[in-house]
Amino acid sequence: MLELIHGDVPYKLKKRQEKETPIKPKKAWTSFGRGNGKTEIRDNLYPLQKGLCVYCEEQLDKYGFHIEHILSKDKNHRLTFEYTNLSLSCMKKLDELEKNYGITKESRSCGHSILKSENQYIEILFIKPTEKKCNLLFSYISNGKITYSINSSDFNKLRINHTIKVLNLDCRRLERDRREILEEIYKAVKDLQYNKEALNDFITLELDRKPSFISAREEHYKIFQ
Ligand SMILES: [Zn+2]
Repeated sequence: MLELIHGDVPYKLKKRQEKETPIKPKKAWTSFGRGNGKTEIRDNLYPLQKGLCVYCEEQLDKYGFHIEHILSKDKNHRLTFEYTNLSLSCMKKLDELEKNYGITKESRSCGHSILKSENQYIEILFIKPTEKKCNLLFSYISNGKITYSINSSDFNKLRINHTIKVLNLDCRRLERDRREILEEIYKAVKDLQYNKEALNDFITLELDRKPSFISAREEHYKIFQ
């Protein structure tokens, strides 16, 4: 999970915030999109998130993406147009996912996982990307599995496990993709392990060039730095 720091509220969203809290959030959100309000939000958040999904850290362009309400707008009408409740998350064009990528409804993740999209989660346990250093709560094992980081409190273990389950971050697809990247890292650093300077240059360049799964990369690169 990325730690998301929002910055200034985009102009059109700010204008909308001056109006009333919507009674029908879904309808209000759709109508906001018609005035290009969503485009402005996407343009602001995309560079902030380094082009990555806020939850799984995959490239947003891989499966397409959508603007994700971190906490449900249906359950929290006042958060419909709250900037700090918005983020970018995979995926888009749900009906094409299975045909194009073999991603079934059950294997969707992030904002479009079954549990998240049906609002079947516990708000006080759900970890929000706006939480300070939320990225460090999770840990990535070299086999691609995601878990809680070492030294987590019992309450945090509960929150992390709940969040992983709700977002389906431990689905086979994400595990496989993370495993492949970590294998690649171990292979690359093996050749450079005795040349500290070259290794550090390589790591800095890699994190800049290929930010996908950045938290997993950083966690494992740290071992060699
Ligand atoms: Zn994702």
